[in-house]
Amino acid sequence: MTKSIAIIGGGIVGATAAYYLTRFGHQITVYDEGTGQATSAAAGIICPWLSKRRNKSWYRLAAGGAAFYQQLLTDLEEDHQDTSFYHKSGALLLKKKASSTEEQYQIGLGRRKDAPEIGELKILTQEELTQLLPTLQQQENALYVEGGARVDGSSLVESLLHYVQNQGGSVRHEKASLIKENERYTIQINKEKTSYDVIILAAGAWLPQILEPLGWEVDIRGQKGQLAVLQTDDVNNGHLPVIMPEGEIDVLPVGDGKVFVGATHENDKGYDLTIDETIVNQMIKSGETLFSRLKDAKLIERKVGTRAYTSDFSPFFGYLPQQETVLTASGLGSSGLTTGPFIGYQLALLANGQETTVSSSDYLPDYYLTFIDTNIC
Ligand SMILES: Cc1cc2nc3c(=O)[nH]c(=O)nc-3n(C[C@H](O)[C@H](O)[C@H](O)COP(=O)(O)OP(=O)(O)OC[C@H]3O[C@@H](n4cnc5c(N)ncnc54)[C@H](O)[C@@H]3O)c2cc1C
Repeated sequence: MTKSIAIIGGGIVGATAAYYLTRFGHQITVYDEGTGQATSAAAGIICPWLSKRRNKSWYRLAAGGAAFYQQLLTDLEEDHQDTSFYHKSGALLLKKKASSTEEQYQIGLGRRKDAPEIGELKILTQEELTQLLPTLQQQENALYVEGGARVDGSSLVESLLHYVQNQGGSVRHEKASLIKENERYTIQINKEKTSYDVIILAAGAWLPQILEPLGWEVDIRGQKGQLAVLQTDDVNNGHLPVIMPEGEIDVLPVGDGKVFVGATHENDKGYDLTIDETIVNQMIKSGETLFSRLKDAKLIERKVGTRAYTSDFSPFFGYLPQQETVLTASGLGSSGLTTGPFIGYQLALLANGQETTVSSSDYLPDYYLTFIDTNIC
């Protein structure tokens, strides 16, 4: 049975859910206001396997998300959509201490049994490293991860939503509100109200703004992330791996001489979207300390977006507690380009009345969303 489904949020989660639900034969409307969208500001590194985070359910989602890209690429190719958003560039993890590189190597070897997408793992000699990155300024220990990739979030969303629109779905670049009428949730834009069979809230960091006016307590906070885009004269840099030094600043050669340097994790700045030139310059400086080539680079763009975090840093997805027609996902934090398509797909399966492919009980929204005020609406 064809369902009418509204999705608030057209970032990576909402767009993937929209894509698969369109494939399943449903009628989709995506509402995406777009301001501060994390997906379009993201660096786009996909390399979750060597993380030392102890949260096993997060790792299952992140490794599952990295693996899921293969299915997404196959599906989009089958649907004749552009897949140039994904580059299996490899990743290079730099460490000051050889023992830290060895430790990561062992973690990778252990996890590769269940995650063959990791591919080759290799500790590079100084000579190999210099050959790969001739302008690297310092001695570093480097672990190469063949399966590492980079994803252009904006282009990915564009491909997904292009398919949705081609199949008769609609994408409205407007802010939508959720209202409750006769015990049923409905979408409202200005004074226009529309009912749907299913509503999916994929609003990233802005889930509290949608649910709190309706009496929900939402365990989500925003975190500001800034990223600098530099232009170098190395126009053939698209083949280079993404570079993950120690600390929070990564360096991504993305082709045509462009290099992403970032990103910041500014908890105290929350939803603020102003570009802070001092912080951008600090980021660029730390990139330059690593790569001399960046000293002559020109700053051509600054990106800023808001990540969503829960208090225990875990993402969630599933039905809104006690609701059978409203689904949601949020809290993807700094790895949402990795987990996002997988989570969007799980939401699509649920809305289509199917079982999820990852145990949803570990990621229930119930842990993060509480209905507290029955008097509102
Ligand atoms: C600077 C930066 C770098 C990052 N780098 C990486 C990385 O290298 N690797 C990685 O895996 N992840 C990375 N991330 C994290 C990743 O980008 C996010 O976790 C992910 O994009 C979140 O996707 P989302 O769909 O949940 O939310 P979003 O992409 O934020 O999308 C939510 C959308 O909902 C819309 N919306 C909200 N409320 C409404 C409303 N009421 N009506 C209409 N529309 C609404 C918003 O405008 C927005 O467009 C990075 C994030 C940032 C900010």
